[in-house]
Amino acid sequence: MKTMTCKQMGGPCDHPNTGKTADEVIKSQDKHLKDAAASGDESHESAAKAMKGRWKNPISGMGWYRQMKRDFAALPED
Ligand SMILES: [Zn+2]
Repeated sequence: MKTMTCKQMGGPCDHPNTGKTADEVIKSQDKHLKDAAASGDESHESAAKAMKGRWKNPISGMGWYRQMKRDFAALPED
């Protein structure tokens, strides 16, 4: 398992996202951003919007996704 924080993925806090693959960690972060934004956390709202925009805009979103995969691959195992 590896851990990437909310901050490492472009968010505002140190919430840890743990997973076996980059996809798991990205999914976890996506959920974290949605949950935080839904509970009225404004600092997460823009990050949640940016995340949503990435799914809508695959070309620019793909660059972020590739970067996350590279960052994830470079992390040590927990
Ligand atoms: Zn966060």
